[in-house]
Amino acid sequence: MRSVPLVAPRRLELVQSPLPEGPRAGELLLQMRAVGLCGSDLHWWAEGRIHSTPARYPQILGHEPVGEVIAVGPGVEGFRPGDLVSVEPSLTCGHCEFCIAGRHNLCVHARFQGGPEAPGFLRDYAVIPAHNADRVPAGLTVHQAALIEPLAVWVHVFELEPVRLGDTVAVLGAGSIGLLGIAMAKQAGAEMVLACDKVPHRLELAERMGADEAVLTRERDFRELVMDRTRGRGADLVYDAAGAPETIALGLQCVRPGGSFVLIGIPEPLEFAVDLHTALAKELRIQAIRRSNHKGAQAAALLASGRIPTDLITHRLPLERAQEGFEILHSYADGVGKLIFDFDRKD
Ligand SMILES: [Zn+2]
Ligand SMILES: [Zn+2]
Repeated sequence: MRSVPLVAPRRLELVQSPLPEGPRAGELLLQMRAVGLCGSDLHWWAEGRIHSTPARYPQILGHEPVGEVIAVGPGVEGFRPGDLVSVEPSLTCGHCEFCIAGRHNLCVHARFQGGPEAPGFLRDYAVIPAHNADRVPAGLTVHQAALIEPLAVWVHVFELEPVRLGDTVAVLGAGSIGLLGIAMAKQAGAEMVLACDKVPHRLELAERMGADEAVLTRERDFRELVMDRTRGRGADLVYDAAGAPETIALGLQCVRPGGSFVLIGIPEPLEFAVDLHTALAKELRIQAIRRSNHKGAQAAALLASGRIPTDLITHRLPLERAQEGFEILHSYADGVGKLIFDFDRKD
């Protein structure tokens, strides 16, 4: 089968590798059909690490997968060959304190498929635990279904820090996570969603996803805009989907007193200064987010309802063009929003 490991910083290589073993009891063998490219894949690709964890070459990236069930292991119920499924990428132990509490994303033994500890899905076939699979509802294309995993991150975010009816929400960063967050906030009843990014073409995507106003950070002082639109009060909720030191600083300034700052994006520098005095003075809630927590089924239902626009998908590339795909997303080239690798495509 084809697989595309990262073999060095910024270098993916298409290789032939043996089929995975299985499915054993409780497992599914999948043929991958589409895999979305995530900002965290780009961190591994560009920097060869995420915070202090180095990549382990060859490392297979890709954790927003959609696959077709090819074979079902003994004892598996509810799936048959031919089913289209989305996959929760975290392999969790099920018996640690945090798994038992239902907080699987905090599992102390978690292995993330796409991290250095377990292969991701930029490969033709994968064997996964059946309990990590969510059936794709009829009516969704494989490309739309590749949004289930990133949207599941938002279902998780909303469990921790939900939008309330009438809230003003600021979203920093309009990459694919920020774009999905804009749509989620709007659907959840936000009165106003303001967004910013440093890349001009993303502003139009942000508006297509439901932002009331989206501005370029170098042209418009975003804090001023938020204060303007809220008569000096600030946003109830700030979601930082960029995670840059600048956006964290900006975000803390944009929250209203007693509001919430939610960090979803992953910062690139290992250490940097954060102005916690602003947070103290306003008694902010600061919520960090780690991936998702088995919210694929809810995310799939949301997408199937048609309430979350899928306009953010701009690129569908064959696996052979993986290297080019990473380069496009990393350089914000070609008007890219969400980029998806389409395994059925040949060119
Ligand atoms: Zn991701
Ligand atoms: Zn666990």
